Amino acid sequence: MNQQQANIDLSNSEAYACESCGHDTFVTVFKLRKLSSIASPTGAEMLVPIQAFACKECGFINKEFLPDLGEDSQDESPLTLV
Ligand SMILES: [Zn+2]
Repeated sequence: MNQQQANIDLSNSEAYACESCGHDTFVTVFKLRKLSSIASPTGAEMLVPIQAFACKECGFINKEFLPDLGEDSQDESPLTLV
């Protein structure tokens, strides 16, 4: 972790809470994304870990921890077969 975190003035910080239940303790979790051999830089299937923080109470992961995986779009267009 970044050593400079020790210099952060926490008096300028604010509490951060779970968006689902409002609890304010979190645990480190990983999501795994499977990369197909076509998209992989190594040419082989690989798992890509995405670190996030999950609410310790309910397990909810606040959205900002996760990159846009393109899964949440409401109007998901069907795949076009060529
Ligand atoms: Zn929660």
